[in-house]
Amino acid sequence: MRTARPGIDRTTLHSLATRRGEPAVTSVYLDVDGAHRPVAAVYEQAFERLADELRRRARVQGRDELVVSVERDLDTMRAWLGGGIDRTTTRGLAMFSCGEQDWFEARELPVRVRDEVGFGPAPRIRQLAELLDEPEPFVLALVDATHLRLFRIDGRDIEERPTLITHQERSVDTSIELGSFEHHQEEAARIHLRRAAAEVDDEMHRRPARQLVIGGPEPAVSALEDDLHATTRALIVGRVEVRVAAPVEEIASRARAVAEKAERQREAALVEEVRQRTAGDHGGVVGLEATLEALAARRVETLLVRDGFVAPGGSCPACGHLGPDLRLCPVCGTRNEGIDDVIEIAIEQAVAQSAEVEFCRGTELERFGGIAAIERY
Ligand SMILES: [Zn+2]
Repeated sequence: MRTARPGIDRTTLHSLATRRGEPAVTSVYLDVDGAHRPVAAVYEQAFERLADELRRRARVQGRDELVVSVERDLDTMRAWLGGGIDRTTTRGLAMFSCGEQDWFEARELPVRVRDEVGFGPAPRIRQLAELLDEPEPFVLALVDATHLRLFRIDGRDIEERPTLITHQERSVDTSIELGSFEHHQEEAARIHLRRAAAEVDDEMHRRPARQLVIGGPEPAVSALEDDLHATTRALIVGRVEVRVAAPVEEIASRARAVAEKAERQREAALVEEVRQRTAGDHGGVVGLEATLEALAARRVETLLVRDGFVAPGGSCPACGHLGPDLRLCPVCGTRNEGIDDVIEIAIEQAVAQSAEVEFCRGTELERFGGIAAIERY
């Protein structure tokens, strides 16, 4: 979770994670993507299905004030939805409300979300935390012996950056002696690649980016890498095999695959770090119970969660202990309140404590119970 996305940033997420509401905060995530919900009536129907589900769950609790509160929150959300959404830019919505506190907040997101509803003492923030854990923006530099193309790629957006280098067809200089023409071209390529490297260095500074992908044919791409400033070279996360003259969409999809792979490698390295720390008993825990304990003790620096991992659990109404045990509190023996998904709460706690949250799409975390944490020293 490192970079801001339109509609949500770390500060917003943190303030949501620390918000509490009585008798409950209602949370609704709604997919409003025009690509498969073409008219407003379709997402409005989806909203009503979610509303029915939420009402049903509220009634099960047998608390009248909760039912009233949830109904009021749903009315607020329905009214806001009725105002219309600009779906050229918005593909997902996150809505939160606590009528008792006159609080309503809607986040218009540039990406799809999963339809989801819930109520509880705090907003449900998992999907927002997942959005912030998307691969971060990166610069792509493509070179060959005569060209340089620079791109900034951020999720689905790709922006080609202007470069100073323009290719000029050289007419054959007849004054060059036979045999030195080749040498002349090599020299020109060498100068071009040095200039290209300087432009890439500049681009990385102009608007700081933390990841660079390079591409193009050999030996040009390796020469570029050698010519880059050491600090720029250290930001290279991969190479892409694509022609410099390829269409932009082809370039973007190949480059995204490289960035995606780099992200998986970074996650695998984190899982390996947690494994070593846990084995050496210095600042790492694995598994649900130990991770929840580390969160309760506010020791977590980075929370690692397998993508899609959901687990039921229990929370103790007497001492507040949160654990995988559905029935009895292991600390004080009180009867626990059942919770559909303790992972949602674990993520809320981590964000509220300003810990990093990493969703691991790879499978490495699976053998450690789907959840783990690197602890603060
Ligand atoms: Zn207890």
